[in-house]
Amino acid sequence: MSGNEPASSKVGVFLCECGGEIAGPIDVEKLSRDLSSGRDEVSIHVTPYWCSLPGRRRLREAIEQEGLNAVVVAGCSERTHGAIIAEAAREAGVNRNRVAIVNLLEHCARVHPGRRPAATSKAARMIRMGVAKAGGARPLETITEDVHRSAVVVGGGVAGLSAARALAAREIPVVLVEQEQELGGMLRGVYLLFPSYGDSARFVSEMSDRTVTHPGIDVRTGTTVTAVSGHAGAYTVTVEAAGASEDLSGGCIILAAGADVLVPEGLFGYGVNPRVVTQYEFEDMLREGLSDVRRIVMIQCVGSRNAERPYCSRVCCTATVKNTITVLEAVAGAEITVLTRGFAEYVGDLDRARESGVKFLRYDPERPPEVADETVKVFDVMSSADVAIPYDLVVLATPLVPRAGTAELARTLGLPVDDHGFVAEPHTKLRPSAYAPHGVFVAGSAHWPATVTECQSQAFSAASRAAELLDRGTIEREPMIAVVDELTCRGCGECVEACAHDAPCLVEGEDGIKISKIDALRCVGCGVCIRVCPPSAIALQHFTEQQLLSMIGAAAGT
Ligand SMILES: Cc1cc2nc3c(=O)[nH]c(=O)nc-3n(C[C@H](O)[C@H](O)[C@H](O)COP(=O)(O)OP(=O)(O)OC[C@H]3O[C@@H](n4cnc5c(N)ncnc54)[C@H](O)[C@@H]3O)c2cc1C
Repeated sequence: MSGNEPASSKVGVFLCECGGEIAGPIDVEKLSRDLSSGRDEVSIHVTPYWCSLPGRRRLREAIEQEGLNAVVVAGCSERTHGAIIAEAAREAGVNRNRVAIVNLLEHCARVHPGRRPAATSKAARMIRMGVAKAGGARPLETITEDVHRSAVVVGGGVAGLSAARALAAREIPVVLVEQEQELGGMLRGVYLLFPSYGDSARFVSEMSDRTVTHPGIDVRTGTTVTAVSGHAGAYTVTVEAAGASEDLSGGCIILAAGADVLVPEGLFGYGVNPRVVTQYEFEDMLREGLSDVRRIVMIQCVGSRNAERPYCSRVCCTATVKNTITVLEAVAGAEITVLTRGFAEYVGDLDRARESGVKFLRYDPERPPEVADETVKVFDVMSSADVAIPYDLVVLATPLVPRAGTAELARTLGLPVDDHGFVAEPHTKLRPSAYAPHGVFVAGSAHWPATVTECQSQAFSAASRAAELLDRGTIEREPMIAVVDELTCRGCGECVEACAHDAPCLVEGEDGIKISKIDALRCVGCGVCIRVCPPSAIALQHFTEQQLLSMIGAAAGT
């Protein structure tokens, strides 16, 4: 049999109970019986979790013992579990293209609660489609290319600086791109650093100096990323500085573009009342030294944990508590009241603040505090009493919000963003720090509001994953790509126009005729080029029309 022919099929179906999440809404025993009976020539295996280590071991054993050459795992999504299942199957000798993942959990069990017989029947049809897909697939060879052993780090805050230095420590050449003229990011506006209460300016300047003077790190400040192209192992990052454009090469990219601090225009008198500032602005005032300020009211969750921004920004409570202690140590007789909706358990030094005399009142978001001219009026939930607190200064704790432009940059890099605009992770439990395109990693607050320690550990994790990829020397990727039938292609260039990944280009043959060629390492197998190709000269080699027709037949029971 040639490598282009579908192998004669010996398909194993691996049914996952997902610890009851699937086995509850779907009758897995009946499903197993139905699929084993008569017309489906497949072997059926059931286990609570195929993604677990014992599950994957059983999967490999079954493949080897039964000589299976195609595998259907009916459980979770391809996005979260495809890679580890395919790896287990590959270790036992099954080609990646002959592994199909059927998403029973999200496409059946969860959407049909309380309709067990119907869900079970639908699950059987979904699995038969998977069998048709995997069984009709050709084994394909992986694509291999050399890796450019260097990295581009976008962002010169604590996350970017940490990642750059961690890579350079492994002798990987790094270009660090920072759009501002100075390094340090958000930390440049922070006074003392929790938990050490050390000077943030000193921390930033030491870290920046060590980065700038490192011979393996090329620091470019005042430089903005304008475009990214390429693929894992060979990216081109186009940057602009002082009106001039330049292409940087890197085998990996670490995105450490950080976040912004929300400016609470119109909330609690901010922008109108000069005695209302944000916690971030208050950091500056603390550095300068407070004068004429003794009575301070701090309000938590300003512009967060609401309909527009339902998330907890994590760093603001700690910043507030840290600043209460800083004030009490600097200003004799200071009176501080913090109006909170309740603190998260990860907030540090809360007891120390309480013991030092800071008052904490709990407010109801339905009855938010009101900042009047002389007092802050609030209904204290704990004592069920209306309170009026005189103030010299009101300090608002506002959340970190996604930085304008980061979502756009993430999309250019092929990274998903979450509902709020932060750069998302495919699966925190199964693939921490792994992002969709294999050569791009994210660290710090671009991903989610993070403390300095968290930014650093994410940066080290990203750097070590990047180094692991760069040190391989070559990169392999699955051949899930589009291919051009040269005899049918008429070189119109529609595919070149349509592709967001610059994968196709027109090349002139010896006979002078132009045809489209697809760069296998750039192609992501999305199929957009197929849709726009007038003579239908392009096909996905891992998902043919014949497979599709067989799947439709399987779904229809023909
Ligand atoms: C009031 C306040 C107090 C805080 N106090 C503490 C504390 O005491 N302890 C603690 O642990 N944490 C504290 N934090 C949190 C901490 O400051 C942040 O978590 C941390 O600084 C985030 O670092 P980062 O590198 O992820 O992002 P940033 O510091 O935002 O850095 C990102 C950098 O990327 C650059 N950039 C963005 N886009 C591009 C682009 N396209 N091209 C080039 N460059 C780009 C930006 O200019 C920026 O310099 C506090 C935060 C606030 C708001």
